[in-house]
Amino acid sequence: MAGLRVCSVLVTGANRGIGLGLVRQLLEMPNSPKWVFAACRDPKGQRAQELQNLASRHPNLVIIPLEVTDPASIKAAAARVGEHLGGSGLNLLINNAGIVKLNSLDNETLEDMSQVYSTNTVGPLLLSQAFLPLLKKAAQGSPGSGLSCSKAAIINMSSCGGSIASPFGWDLMQVVSYRCSKAALNMLTKCQSLGYREHGVLCAALHPGWVQTDMGSSTGRTAPVTVDASARGMLKVLSSLSEKDTGTFLDWEGKVVPW
Ligand code: NDP
Repeated sequence: MAGLRVCSVLVTGANRGIGLGLVRQLLEMPNSPKWVFAACRDPKGQRAQELQNLASRHPNLVIIPLEVTDPASIKAAAARVGEHLGGSGLNLLINNAGIVKLNSLDNETLEDMSQVYSTNTVGPLLLSQAFLPLLKKAAQGSPGSGLSCSKAAIINMSSCGGSIASPFGWDLMQVVSYRCSKAALNMLTKCQSLGYREHGVLCAALHPGWVQTDMGSSTGRTAPVTVDASARGMLKVLSSLSEKDTGTFLDWEGKVVPW
């Protein structure tokens, strides 16, 4: 993990689960970023208590209000982050916030399909659009021509449940809206990698493993991977990404996940 050198990073859905785990690990790194922006829906509320505790100990942690399904909230978050950064850009945007609905093929609904798609797919699209000027600025300000997370990157938190070639866990949970939203997120990642390469922005989709969070435990089974192990693994993977990895789908251990 010592290899990941970023000046600034923003993590969405940072008040619990994998997002909180990533923030913790980023703050504990020997070369911790100058700015860690932790975005969550209700920064002052009870659900952000752990983030507030961390912020009282780490002056480089800034909590940003963000509802990923609300374009106005996304715009305000980008403006707020821009103010904190002064004239600098943002190196790393981690689109982590996500939801699952435990529906089956038979009882999926228009409402749930739409809500899950808005959160898991449209959210990352709009966030990336809103933060692109700051990502471009970071890319322009970084030496070297190759792509990397130290320079500028968008990382979309996907799931092997959204893999069409190898859809994990069908017998355990059908979660059709979730699978469709993550398959679409994978395509979005590919599109972003094609569109943003010229701006110097690396784009990749990550599967965090089956992780011990509220979401990971929602079927009642115990997930095998701890939040710490997943977050540590993913930050190690991020430190190793280069030009050849833009537009790819990798897991928390760096293995390629089939689309
Ligand atoms: P959790 O349910 O534990 O946490 C989800 C986070 O996303 C919370 O911080 C939540 O905030 C936030 N969030 C949800 N909706 C919104 C919204 N509309 N606006 C802003 N924030 C929102 O999930 P995990 O930590 O387990 O999952 C994180 C990511 O990893 C997700 O994208 C998930 O799909 C993916 N993933 C997880 C796996 C696992 O096994 N856990 C496996 C594969 C992928 P709030 O507290 O306000 O609800």
